[in-house]
Amino acid sequence: MELLDKPISEIKEIPQSFKKKFQKLGISTLKDLLFYFPRRYENFSKIVPISQLKINQTACIEAEVKFIENIKTYKKKFIITQALVSDDTGTLKIVWFNQPFLTRTIKEGDKLYLAGKLAYTKAGPLFQNPVFEKITPEKKVYLHTKRIVPIYSETERISSKWIRFALYPLLKKFAKEIPEVLPDFLIRELSLMPVQEAIFEIHFPSSLSKAKKARYRFAFQELFLLELFILKEKYQNRLEKAPKIFPKIEIVKEFVKSLPFSLTNDQKKAAWQILKDMEKGFPMMRLLQGDVGSGKTVVAALASLNTAKNSYQVAFMAPTEILAKQHFETFREFLKDFNLNIGLLTSKKDLLISKKLPKEIIEISKKRLLEKTKKGEIDILVGTHSLIQEKVKFKRLGLVIIDEQHRFGIYQRAELTRKEKSEEGDYLPHLLSMTATPIPRTLALTVYGNLDISLLKEMPKGPRKVKTIVFSPKQREKAYKLIRQEIEKGRQAFVICPRIEMNNSKIEMKAVKEEYEKLSKKIFPDLKIGILHGKMSVTEKEKVMKDLKRGKIQILVSTSVVEVGIDVPNATVMLVEGAERFGLAQLHQFRGRIGRGGDKSYFLLFSESSSRKVYQRLKSLEKINNGLELAEIDLKLRGPGDFIGKRQWGIPDLAMASLQDIELVELARESAKKILEKDFFLKNYPLLAKELSKFKKEIHFE
Ligand code: ADP
Ligand code: MG
Repeated sequence: MELLDKPISEIKEIPQSFKKKFQKLGISTLKDLLFYFPRRYENFSKIVPISQLKINQTACIEAEVKFIENIKTYKKKFIITQALVSDDTGTLKIVWFNQPFLTRTIKEGDKLYLAGKLAYTKAGPLFQNPVFEKITPEKKVYLHTKRIVPIYSETERISSKWIRFALYPLLKKFAKEIPEVLPDFLIRELSLMPVQEAIFEIHFPSSLSKAKKARYRFAFQELFLLELFILKEKYQNRLEKAPKIFPKIEIVKEFVKSLPFSLTNDQKKAAWQILKDMEKGFPMMRLLQGDVGSGKTVVAALASLNTAKNSYQVAFMAPTEILAKQHFETFREFLKDFNLNIGLLTSKKDLLISKKLPKEIIEISKKRLLEKTKKGEIDILVGTHSLIQEKVKFKRLGLVIIDEQHRFGIYQRAELTRKEKSEEGDYLPHLLSMTATPIPRTLALTVYGNLDISLLKEMPKGPRKVKTIVFSPKQREKAYKLIRQEIEKGRQAFVICPRIEMNNSKIEMKAVKEEYEKLSKKIFPDLKIGILHGKMSVTEKEKVMKDLKRGKIQILVSTSVVEVGIDVPNATVMLVEGAERFGLAQLHQFRGRIGRGGDKSYFLLFSESSSRKVYQRLKSLEKINNGLELAEIDLKLRGPGDFIGKRQWGIPDLAMASLQDIELVELARESAKKILEKDFFLKNYPLLAKELSKFKKEIHFE
């Protein structure tokens, strides 16, 4: 076994009592422990004379104990140890709470380093609960004072002090044996700190600039591994076989001409990129990104048409049944003149548009639909993740389209594209993902780095006239008045309830019901109010959507997650409760749901937090109307969780944090490219290859 993989239970230097506690922190091997990096540092390297201490300043002093005693507080609830210490410049009072044993360790005449914050209390200025270390002639290292002290994320019962105490001897003993996984030439070219020095400096830095260099090195290393992983996947994909699907220019032209509008330049460009990708003979892996309403569906329809006319089938996966049905109907409309069989696979009845009856929708049994799909008689099959089921077989699947791709797991995605591998020769279908979630640049280069990205920046119908207002809780009346005004004009409104952590649909349902009660009984008793949440059946949901579209519902109270992509052109108001729980980019997506008819609309936000920062963050929605810009702010303020899911813990912490640093990400990417171009299988870098395979095992993009 490799040294670093040694379980901490077998390391005799670690006191027994610590082992369980480390386990709780998820530290089980020597490597885990050595690579448990501090969150920040406290600089106690300079000794401050007592006379120069400032109130609220954190500092380290060197002083002699003049007096020390325990006293009981008058309520006898606890014991205070108080001491007077002095240096050449003055005397300072020290108090410790509830540590009576201190009088046994600290004696008058002892010399101490004391590190703490100068507080100003009724009893004058003093140090409360400072960390101290006794100065003795034998002692060579001080871990907690008179140095740059590492501060770790602390959990209930394990303090930074303990971690320092446990780590130091281990680092002394093992740092020299940690192998360097980064190639020498990179260390040289980028002047990175070598691992054996860096591992020491990141924990017990000799200077702050060294600490920074050490951290930089490990951040680089993690991003570099991430890039190697993602780029290898990307290049590996080029070695796979996919059907060559050529652009049928005449048909494409005819399609474009048949549309009731002309395509935007971005749509044309994206469509062309897709068509070019699909003729290459290796699988397309493209992400089509564009704000809500940017017109992704028509691009998908064009790619589907071209695929079908090359005699290959298309699978189009949507996150919900309602959306699947909406896409099915849109495709029917766009493709009505092109002689195609389009099927809709749902949990209930299944539908088919047949070439013979292009204007009709025919109900057929699931069994027949699946048979027809298997025989290759269905050109385009639309559905939810039901498309992944084992029993869904295609004859010649050429293209997989996934709408709102972030709502599917990567495994679900992989499943759908892997299916046809053995069926008809050995090939993978092309993959087109679509998303309205803007992807900050650093993420496009890392976790999405295996995908090519097409952007739809232009909004076909021009920018929407949506006014965004962040309200304070006191302005509720105003917001309700606005809603009423719009409804009196014949418009409709959405009220979105706060998202519940952990996606607990039961609690969510309760919140929605309460809001519904409140609005329908107290605020708008005279209006028609509907309700939509995840616990409803598909039939119930469909009925609500229908009622909404027909205007039978004036205000829809809904959870945030149920129906992405619903299209109700008459809706001109959306009120979001608990807006602080959402990312700005996500709120921007909600905003895209209103004003689709081109009318002036209102996006109203309430937050449950009284924090100034939260308010400021939400306020930026009033000014910024660019999804990508908002996404970059989210990344900075909230971290990458909004974009890659909270559960993607496989990515090491430092890499997660460094996903903000575009320069470092680019450097890591360039370096990874360089090495893969030279040596794709990393034959000359066995340690790196090994580290990468470990990384692969730990990383799980879901
Ligand atoms: P999204 O990108 O949010 O999926 P859709 O594809 O649903 O957007 O398109 C939104 C609306 O805009 C649809 O009604 C669609 O028909 C329409 N649309 C798409 N492209 C154009 C265009 N170039 N000009 C005018 N309208 C368009
Ligand atoms: Mg869409």
